[in-house]
Amino acid sequence: NKHFVPEQFRRDFPALNDESVYLDSAATALKPQVMIDATLAYYAQNTATAKRSLYQDALQVTTTIDKARQNVADLIHANNSAEIIWTRGATESINLIAQSYARPLLQPDDEIIVSELEHHSNLLPWQIIAKQTGAKVIKWSSDIDELSSLLSVKTKIVAITQMSNVTGFCPDLATISHIVHQHNAILVVDGAQGIVHHALDVQQLNIDFYAFSAHKLYGPTGLGVLYGKQVLLEQMPVWHGGGKMLKSASFDDFIQEDLPYKFEAGTPNIAGILGFNAVLEWLKSWDNKQAENYTKQLAFYTKSQLNQLTDIQFYSVDNSPIITFNINNIHHNDIAILLSEQNIAIRTGELCAQPLMNKLGCHGAIRLSLMPYNNQQDVDKFISELQSAIEILV
Ligand code: PMP
Repeated sequence: NKHFVPEQFRRDFPALNDESVYLDSAATALKPQVMIDATLAYYAQNTATAKRSLYQDALQVTTTIDKARQNVADLIHANNSAEIIWTRGATESINLIAQSYARPLLQPDDEIIVSELEHHSNLLPWQIIAKQTGAKVIKWSSDIDELSSLLSVKTKIVAITQMSNVTGFCPDLATISHIVHQHNAILVVDGAQGIVHHALDVQQLNIDFYAFSAHKLYGPTGLGVLYGKQVLLEQMPVWHGGGKMLKSASFDDFIQEDLPYKFEAGTPNIAGILGFNAVLEWLKSWDNKQAENYTKQLAFYTKSQLNQLTDIQFYSVDNSPIITFNINNIHHNDIAILLSEQNIAIRTGELCAQPLMNKLGCHGAIRLSLMPYNNQQDVDKFISELQSAIEILV
């Protein structure tokens, strides 16, 4: 691995410049040049379909898609690449689990335990499947001591995030997984935020299903991953029907493809997968542990600067790259608008997690999120413009 040199890493991102500050990476990450080049090359030079035609470019695209699948398997330490399904994003991955794994399994009064930390995309798919099957969604504070008391023979699924997109909190997945499996339930982990900052081993943690989106990990929008244990994926019925998820079809019926293709009906997001493969190859060339430490230090610095402001209320945990807060008596959106005039991008609002925001007692907040491509100048400019905004608004 290449040593992580912050300035060198930053140079790989053409969107970064001296005029603007991007602190909204938890919403979507900026893209490195390698990702843009790979996407452009596909559209400008080597356009072809995958898994269908037999000319050179088509064969090459098919090969690269399989390579990308293996790269994802390596990233999360999946046992094999057949356990990696391409989807449109973390949201679609979780809906696939709900509709294909949970729907045939759940009986009326069965229970799905869902943590209160969840993004809407790891809550609403469970609400929907509960309505369809008569099962119940059980609220869990995410506190480990509470989990054992909620689990019972009725529990079929426990769903939790790897990292909250609001508070940055990372639950102890190893302990949670142990408790969940003692009760013969399965564990679904939303890795949309977690995968960006913390490498994870799905086998070591004994995670049954894991979902994430490429766009938060420097990749394209409209592409996601579902990891599932092979034994589970194999028993699951297909969800979407269409081209290339079948071995043969007659007018009356069809025989489904093997994994992973049985879940990949229709032409995939080819440009997206090629772009993401370039990202995964590029990521391998950096020391990600060093990058993680760098971001942690930058987060520590940011928080210490913010701490000097009066009337600030934090919702996020210490040392997290996600920093969420409010300034008393100032509306978060007023801050966002004033910062936008200074070319500073942050996120404000309910952060797609209304139940958690309600629990935290607020109807919106300011969130800044850091990546290894951010630097101290970004933070200093943000702090100074935030101070000016506060002066205008009080
Ligand atoms: N879970 C978490 C924790 C997230 O932060 C997000 C994205 N904001 C998602 C799920 C959903 O990801 P996507 O919209 O890319 O499907």
